[in-house]
Amino acid sequence: MKPRNLVLIVFLLAASLALPLQAGAQARIEDASVEAVFGEQLLFRARLFTDSPVESAVIHLQPAGAAQPQVEAVTVNAQETYYNLLYILDISNHELPPFSTLSYWYEVRLENGETFTGPVSTYRYEDNRFSWRELERGPFKLRWYAGDLEYARSVLDIARRGEEHIQELLQVNPVQNVMIYVYDTAADMQSSLARPEEEWIAAHTDPGLGVIVLAAPAGPEQTLRLEQRLPHEMMHLMLFQAVGQAITNLPIWLQEGVASAAELYPNPDYQILLENARSSDGLMPIASLCQAFPPESAPALLAYAESASFTRYLFDRFGSQGVQGLISAYARGEECEQGVQKALGISLAQLEREWRKDQLNENLALAALEKLLPWLVLLAAVLAAPAVLIASRLRGRRRSLAGSANS
Ligand SMILES: [Zn+2]
Repeated sequence: MKPRNLVLIVFLLAASLALPLQAGAQARIEDASVEAVFGEQLLFRARLFTDSPVESAVIHLQPAGAAQPQVEAVTVNAQETYYNLLYILDISNHELPPFSTLSYWYEVRLENGETFTGPVSTYRYEDNRFSWRELERGPFKLRWYAGDLEYARSVLDIARRGEEHIQELLQVNPVQNVMIYVYDTAADMQSSLARPEEEWIAAHTDPGLGVIVLAAPAGPEQTLRLEQRLPHEMMHLMLFQAVGQAITNLPIWLQEGVASAAELYPNPDYQILLENARSSDGLMPIASLCQAFPPESAPALLAYAESASFTRYLFDRFGSQGVQGLISAYARGEECEQGVQKALGISLAQLEREWRKDQLNENLALAALEKLLPWLVLLAAVLAAPAVLIASRLRGRRRSLAGSANS
């Protein structure tokens, strides 16, 4: 075979592979695009070229992870040599999570009865209100818009150190592809989230998407905030990568507790919150933090503080293996209180009492009393001796008086 013929065959083969979904080849789609108004709508546009008049068109929309596509009617406008296709998706209801990926394709019905399915395209629904810069290192893809390249490198350093710290705490695999979006202000970050009502949160992870979103305002505390928030969110992600959907069976106090243990700079306010709650008898039982944390900021922060302290106590007392065993028990489907009993051999209530005593110096008066007990016994004995003597003398006197009266 002449080389020229071979080239021709390869070219024809490549051309046929490039059009795998175009049934009938009577139509083609060009310039498919998506324009986002973040948090409001997505505009899907394309041009349809066909010799036959168009009867109708639909668009198939399938977010990553969705079992079935959503099918919607498309507006078709005839131009001189092609048709404009337009569909507007309302995303103000937050049903499409920010930073998720969406597959879409058009399907056209022609007046001659033929149908035509266009190629599948993918679109990442990003927060396009900012000019993101991107830096990639290993499994981490960082996007940020405030700060220089040096700053971005320091963020990736914290990510690496966070991963090392997490692997010291738990036997989990290295993190896989993760997108990290760093916002400059908490307000910017919160407005990007699907649940913007939680105004006090400063970081968020969507483990299914492999996306971490956090705020790190410029200033003297920026590095500390990153050392706190980034490893915390990475632990959520790595835990999900380790146990998958079973993560939903882990008590919230444990999920947040291990995430707090991952922080390279632990929150210094937690100890103060715990002390105040203890002295005002306001500590929440750990069993009340199994399913959810309170939605309001003050009790939620106390719930984080308690979870962090309680989980750190578990690491200190039972080691990494103990905590790992506890996570496995929950991942197998154990209930909140039974998981502790089965994995650690103690009831949750008893463990909580011992944590409070150990970490919060609870029963301080009782502990002081226990120390003084031998002295108190001695004191009682010393005081009791003369009392016994006096009593026996009085008894003797009474007896002699009674004797004299009877006699
Ligand atoms: Zn968390």
